[in-house]
Formats: sequence, C-alpha cells, structure tokens
Amino acid sequence: MSDTRTTERVSHDGPTASSAAYAAPRRDWSRQEVAALFDLPFMELIFRAAEVHRACHRSGEVQLSTLLSIKTGGCQEDCGYCSQSVSHDTGLKATKLMDVRAVLQAAAQAKDNGSTRFCMGAAWRNPRDRDIPKLTEMVEGVRAMGMETCMTLGMLTADQAKALGEAGLDYYNHNIDTSPENYANVITTRSFDDRIDTLEHVRAAGINICCGGIVGMGETRGDRVGFIHALATLPVHPGSVPINALVPVKGTVIGDMLADTSLARLDEIEFVRTIAVARIVMPRSMAGANSIFTGDKLLTTNNAGDHADAALFAKLGIVPMMTMEPHDKCGEPVQDLASTRSTAC
Ligand code: SF4
Repeated sequence: MSDTRTTERVSHDGPTASSAAYAAPRRDWSRQEVAALFDLPFMELIFRAAEVHRACHRSGEVQLSTLLSIKTGGCQEDCGYCSQSVSHDTGLKATKLMDVRAVLQAAAQAKDNGSTRFCMGAAWRNPRDRDIPKLTEMVEGVRAMGMETCMTLGMLTADQAKALGEAGLDYYNHNIDTSPENYANVITTRSFDDRIDTLEHVRAAGINICCGGIVGMGETRGDRVGFIHALATLPVHPGSVPINALVPVKGTVIGDMLADTSLARLDEIEFVRTIAVARIVMPRSMAGANSIFTGDKLLTTNNAGDHADAALFAKLGIVPMMTMEPHDKCGEPVQDLASTRSTAC
C-alpha cells in the first residue's frame, strides 16, 4: 500500500457513543470517580476514551501548533521544573521582549509549516501595563494571518485580560501545574488560588482558556487524580488542556531531584492513562493528543522536530488538522485538549 496517509483526509465517524451525551459535560466529578477511571484495565480505559474522542472530535486529525518564546528567562517565579526561573542556575541567557516584527516573521514561518495556532510565551510573573500595547499588536498581526492566537504571560489583571481580549486573543494559557495539595511542593512564589484568579479574569474577558499542567514531576498517582479532578471541576472546562510530560532540566529543583532516579521518566502507560482520563472527564476539551507543538524547540527545551512528527503521523495514519478549529460534533463551542512532551509555563 502506498504511503498516502499523510495527505488523505481521514474521517473516523464510526458508530460510537452519541454526541448528544456530551453536549453538557459534567463538572461534578468526584475524586473517587476520577481515581476509578485511572484504575480501569488499560484497554477498557482506552476504549472509553476513544469513544468520547470520536463522539466530539475528528479522531484522525491533530492540530499543529507552534510555540515561540517571545521573552526568555529571568522570571521571578520559582516553578521547580522551569529553566527560566531566576531561582535556577541552568545557564539560560535571559532576553528582552521580542520586537513585534520578529514575532510576526516567526508566525508567518509557522503558518508556512502547517501550523494553525501560534502560541507566544513570555517568562514573567506578570506583564507590566506598558508591555500590553506591544502584546496586543502581536495578537492582531498573527490573527490577520488567519491563525489562532494563544499567549502565556503569567498572572493578568482584569484590565490586561480585557485589552488582550479586545485585540482578538483566542486562547490564554495559564496552567494549574499539578494538584492543589501538591502545588506548594512545586511552586512557592504563588498559590493555586492565584492561578484561579487569573483564569477568572481571562474568562471574563471572553478569551478561551488553555489550562493544564505537567506530569512526571515525581508526583503520586493521587496527585495526578487531583490534577485532573481540579481541571474537570472548574466552573467551565478549559478549551485546551495541555498535559505535558516533564523534560527534566539540570539546575532546576525538580530536574536535580529526579536525576538518576527511576522517577526521571514518567511511565508511558501512566502518561497515556492520564490523557485518557482527561479525555473522558472533559469530553469536549482538546485534551489528549488533539494537538502537538511542532518544530525543533519548545520554550527552552528541544522538541522532536517536523520530520519526526511527520514520520509519526504517517506511521499512525494521522493527518494535520487543516481547519482553524476542530469540528465539534457535540454542538457547542469547540474545546480542545492537547498533549505535548515538554515543560510549559
Ligand atoms: S514556568 Fe513560567 S512562571 Fe514559572 S518560572 Fe517558568 S517562566 Fe516563570
């Protein structure tokens, strides 16, 4: 058989669970229910997650997104996994906020390479008000190219969120990182509730929320249950749920803690379980391999690269999502749940 799978439009709309069953996703999950899903026999869990996926998404397609660090390093927060924190000696060179023109050039390149979402990340505890005009210019410029826009800039005030929303920002990424009870083990310079406050500002500004976290930080299964439970019981499920596998970085608290231990690499089956449970409890969100970050580099860590991604897509019979947003078969605004393999802000 010739290898045409990367160019064919694949539709897997087989006889699966009714889309209507997911029109109003539950937000009253108990921790026990989430834990019970984690405990399912692996193939049963995958079957259930695939049913949900097919009911609400085009199962043969994955969105290509590109992530650009528009301001690197020198961050005042102390996230234990992050190479960009001033608390960590990782040899990373801090940079100033990029010029708008350079950002737009990178966005054009990303579009040429097939990306439909362009994510801009700045290593800040929070942006200053004087940065906002430059940031809104970036949003407007990328949107004018016909791409979805996403930013991650740290904590936002209500007014800053409003300005970004008025510029047309599609998504704002603000991760809860881990379970509420594990939060202080990962970050001490802000609280879990601080994150929730910014998420409220973003939601009030009419911007879609991208909110997930990182697994493989030495946390327990119970922490992963608490992490997914916290996301699934937010007032509104995030539109995107990035579930990241930690890339341990030497010089960070967690990278050094995990070095040379069996915890340095999260068990792959456990990673897949986490994504599958997220899919089931947030059916309409793009959680669990609806999207990937393309390119050779993420914010500061290496990425698989376009050739490796294309080879994997061909092997799995997956095609890049061509439309800006995934088709939503459940009838309400599209949400997506993403799985990547990196650290995230
Ligand atoms: S993850 Fe983001 S907020 Fe945390 S230290 Fe890194 S850049 Fe700063």
